[in-house]
Amino acid sequence: MTKTEKILIVGGGFGGVKAALGLADDPRFDVTLLTEDAEFRYYPTLFRTATGGKRANSSIPLDQIFADKAVKIVRGTAATLDRKTKSVTTKESQTYEYDTLIIGLGVVTNYFGIAGLAEYSYSIKSQKEVERFKAHLHQQLTDERRPDLHYIIVGAGPTGIELAGALPGYLKYITKNHGIKNRSVHIDLIEAAPRLLPRLPKDVSRRVKRRLKRLGVKLYVGSVVQGQTADTLTVNGKPIRSHTVVWTAGVTNHPFFTDNHFVLMTRGKVAVDTYLQAEDNIFVIGDNANTPYSGMAQTALHDGEFVAHNLRRRAAGESFKSYIAHAPVTVIPVGPHWAVVQGQGIWRFQGFLGWLVREAADLVGFHDLEPWPKAINQFLTEFETQDNCEVCTVASAA
Ligand SMILES: Cc1cc2nc3c(=O)[nH]c(=O)nc-3n(C[C@H](O)[C@H](O)[C@H](O)COP(=O)(O)OP(=O)(O)OC[C@H]3O[C@@H](n4cnc5c(N)ncnc54)[C@H](O)[C@@H]3O)c2cc1C
Repeated sequence: MTKTEKILIVGGGFGGVKAALGLADDPRFDVTLLTEDAEFRYYPTLFRTATGGKRANSSIPLDQIFADKAVKIVRGTAATLDRKTKSVTTKESQTYEYDTLIIGLGVVTNYFGIAGLAEYSYSIKSQKEVERFKAHLHQQLTDERRPDLHYIIVGAGPTGIELAGALPGYLKYITKNHGIKNRSVHIDLIEAAPRLLPRLPKDVSRRVKRRLKRLGVKLYVGSVVQGQTADTLTVNGKPIRSHTVVWTAGVTNHPFFTDNHFVLMTRGKVAVDTYLQAEDNIFVIGDNANTPYSGMAQTALHDGEFVAHNLRRRAAGESFKSYIAHAPVTVIPVGPHWAVVQGQGIWRFQGFLGWLVREAADLVGFHDLEPWPKAINQFLTEFETQDNCEVCTVASAA
């Protein structure tokens, strides 16, 4: 009888979950998914949860995704890799052995050492952070009975743009609920580069700029954050009064790879070969791998599927296929019923049609992880709201 291959997948995000789904229920593999959270984080809709949307719209319990799948899910924080014993040990001192290891840990926030940001800024990279941000918005209105002097978003990449687009409507809604009428709110979007969306074509930046201006967001490009205190953000040497600063401007690769002496390339990404192997039988996928389109959910899904496919091939006595990077299509929603779509080459469009494309992309994104009925239910949570604020609950029920 042939031995079952012990697969350890570390990280239950886009890449890890997709790899696990691709290997589950195959009797040739014994699959363990080691991850920190009990829920899968659907990052693309986190900005909606942060602006009044339902938590369930951007989170799916892993138990639900793997309900009828032969995948063992274990919770823990992977800390050390022992190449000799082929095992990973967690911070909680649990050790998991593998024949084949797949790592997809995602990236972590980078404050570039700027004083005060880690302490005082908000972030929307996890449900915990989103809930902290939302609670702050409501608490500040309850305490001060007027909007904050400035609501500041730092970073005009896709995450900052999405949040800046959704925040005006949400603030209008909650200020009204809190009985604060006719007070204008100041939303500032700050970017160090000379234009918005510096990684996309200039033309896309211009379209998004026009849209944000129409929504009332003030844009400051070429503006460098130098420090933050409890009530001030210093930008280009000038202090701006604010208690609400959201940092979306920097990420860096997961520290697991430096801690465990992987070979790193530009932007700290892990060097991988044409099969996404960093070392013999250690595969690195998604945001962690040094591939052309690393940093997108679509890439992580593709990577997870690719590695699972190759492992199935190897188990069947076939050789590995080489990796082909798929150029992603970028769709960025900016405020209600509007999104800009950037395909490969010169084609791009924006507006309501762009928003429909984004809706379809989310539905397909959920279906990448779950069967259609569950994916549709997940998708429909977009149209529900959730605010853990007594004032808003009473106001919206009235
Ligand atoms: C706010 C936001 C919005 C985004 N929007 C889009 C978008 O619209 N379209 C798009 O294509 N991309 C988007 N992205 C990028 C996309 O989400 C990432 O590229 C994708 O999540 C990468 O997948 P991954 O599997 O590499 O990592 P992740 O999905 O980040 O998964 C990493 C997993 O590892 C777990 N983990 C971390 N550390 C440990 C540890 N030490 N031990 C065990 N487990 C650990 C985490 O809990 C997580 O489950 C967005 C990202 C953010 C932050």
